[in-house]
Amino acid sequence: MKSYQAPANLLTDKVILVTGAGDGIGKEAALTFARHGATVILLGKTTDKLTAVYDEICASQWPEPAIVPLDLKGASQKHYQDLAATILAEFGRLDGLLHNAGILGGLAPFEHIKADIWQDVLQVNLTGPMLMTQALMPVLRKAAHSSIVFTSSGVGRQGRAYWGSYAVSKFATEGLMQTLADEYAGSSIRVNCINPGATRTSMRARAYPAENAQKLKTPADLMWLYLYLMGDDSININGQSLDAQPK
Ligand code: NDP
Repeated sequence: MKSYQAPANLLTDKVILVTGAGDGIGKEAALTFARHGATVILLGKTTDKLTAVYDEICASQWPEPAIVPLDLKGASQKHYQDLAATILAEFGRLDGLLHNAGILGGLAPFEHIKADIWQDVLQVNLTGPMLMTQALMPVLRKAAHSSIVFTSSGVGRQGRAYWGSYAVSKFATEGLMQTLADEYAGSSIRVNCINPGATRTSMRARAYPAENAQKLKTPADLMWLYLYLMGDDSININGQSLDAQPK
């Protein structure tokens, strides 16, 4: 599939949690989901950025979002259980979960990878999303159909020199997605990955400081796939890793 035209009301009455909703691709996804009718739960590290997204959604008169400031680096199982309890109490269910937050951790030759950076990258990109998903499963099960979307990368499919911790975290993300998709196959919960491809964000600028960012796709260019996987047109899609910039 190369694109998808989402109806304006695609996500009406859906409750969707977006991690890393304050910046980059996550911010665009949060705004796009709200524009298509969803109540978006904005989760991220920097409260000011989340508040700015909240204000933009409210100013546009889309459904009022909720804000959850949470640093995936320090969050424990208890934080995720509390998050699940709050969503259940406030909304009664969760229709969509977009795991978008991520860190690069810096590129380094293998012998220079610092143990603490390795740990941080795996914590934020893999362990945090795993624990969050585990805690949210009962709330996702309350929806008639729910969609979990993980964020992968080209280096999560083919390793690349100097991308050590980040690449490993994304390979593991693909593995977690496949495992969950198989385990929940036939249930109301579907699980897939998006590989955004090179996109004009601050993470990309950190990885490729010398490139001309104006030549890159913007987060808005990718949203057709995010909408497709969150809306009911993808109910039968499970266990796939899809490219937001297909060749
Ligand atoms: P950005 O760096 O622009 O945004 C990352 C988001 O994640 C920010 O909102 C950030 O919050 C949040 N975040 C980072 N660390 C934490 C944390 N510890 N706890 C909570 N939230 C956190 O990145 P992109 O938008 O480019 O990337 C989004 C996703 O897409 C990532 O998973 C990335 O790996 C993936 N990706 C991106 C590509 C690209 O070319 N841009 C290509 C392939 C994959 P804050 O701003 O508050 O720190």
